[in-house]
Amino acid sequence: MDFELSEDQKLVQEMVRRFSEKEIAHLADEIDRTERFPEKTLKDMAGLGLMSMLVPSEAGGTGMGAVAYSLALMEIGKACMSHATATSVTNMVCEGIYRFGTPAQRQIYIPRITSGECLAGAFALTEPGAGSDAGSLRATAEREGEEYVLNGTKVFITSGSHAGVFMVAAKTDREAGKRGISVFLVEAGTPGLRVGRKEEKLGQRGSDTVEILFEECHVPAANLLGNEGDGFKIMLANLDGGRVGIASSSCGLARAAFESARSYSKDRRQFGRPICEFQAIQWKLADMATQLDAATLLTLRAAHRKELGRPYTQEASMAKLFATEACQRVCREALQIHGGYGYVREYPAERFLRDSVALTLYEGTSEIQRLVIARNLLT
Ligand SMILES: Cc1cc2nc3c(=O)[nH]c(=O)nc-3n(C[C@H](O)[C@H](O)[C@H](O)COP(=O)(O)OP(=O)(O)OC[C@H]3O[C@@H](n4cnc5c(N)ncnc54)[C@H](O)[C@@H]3O)c2cc1C
Repeated sequence: MDFELSEDQKLVQEMVRRFSEKEIAHLADEIDRTERFPEKTLKDMAGLGLMSMLVPSEAGGTGMGAVAYSLALMEIGKACMSHATATSVTNMVCEGIYRFGTPAQRQIYIPRITSGECLAGAFALTEPGAGSDAGSLRATAEREGEEYVLNGTKVFITSGSHAGVFMVAAKTDREAGKRGISVFLVEAGTPGLRVGRKEEKLGQRGSDTVEILFEECHVPAANLLGNEGDGFKIMLANLDGGRVGIASSSCGLARAAFESARSYSKDRRQFGRPICEFQAIQWKLADMATQLDAATLLTLRAAHRKELGRPYTQEASMAKLFATEACQRVCREALQIHGGYGYVREYPAERFLRDSVALTLYEGTSEIQRLVIARNLLT
């Protein structure tokens, strides 16, 4: 068993760490307060090859691999969760186009995402009546000659106002249940695609989360991703990879919270000594560090299996479940260690906790991860 990273993985980790510390971390507070989508830094990140990391270079991506991708998201998540979420969804969409797209679809979209011309990708599955039960979605895509006509409403779509391309799930056969779902690539600006309400969120406020409406939206038949009826399987396969991304970002955010609490505990004095000298604080730090390590190992195991081309659905769900919940516990304890100062904006502890809340909700809630894990255990 080898826990060492390869030289290439270390290089990616170091490059993204330097960029995140220098260019992203100082923006996190401001974009949280102003709810500003960080277009410029995301474009700069595309310039570093961070938007198509899971797509081989022969196909127009930057081909860094699933482990390096996970390490990169840990660094980005540590600096700013809003950047991490946008990066994670864009890579998921880009990889989905690579895995399921036609040669023409790959040629059109992957280079645009890689270069940052297409600033973000969006993944449009959730609907007002179809969240955890995504298979019950009601958006439709009716074939009309050489086009499909999309109608329906998607909600909570990450990067929806800024995405260049949307991966959209819709029913091509209303009678066929999940087997009647297909996926389409829809370009921003297509008539009939409209950005609706922007959500006002508790955390990750620099990440854009919007409603997307499809009203008689005509999409070329050539934009069908995979086969008609395979859409549900395609979306779930994308989510397996996405969950490793969310787990990785969670490890990054948890590390930021842990490090800020450790440093605060060395500076803050009460009863004539730094609070880190109290055993109660030391035990908190020990538990936080242990959970963080366990989350990191589970996450890298899932990424490693993915990189080897082995099945990893179970490992991805375990990593997502554990890392996101551990992150919330670590953020909660980090705030506690800051005392009252953790509750005010002077320190980032309150933002870390707010940013952590979405992690156990999107790309499958914790309850859904447990369902996936249990299903695998019992088959
Ligand atoms: C910040 C943010 C960004 C998002 N980005 C995207 C995006 O880019 N694209 C996209 O398509 N969606 C996105 N989502 C939507 C997200 O994936 C859904 O919110 C999530 O899947 C849960 O669906 P729901 O909110 O409808 O909750 P519901 O499904 O209504 O669930 C409500 C509660 O019931 C529980 N529950 C439901 N079914 C079961 C069950 N069978 N067993 C046990 N418990 C159950 C859930 O775990 C939850 O606790 C985003 C959400 C957020 C908050």
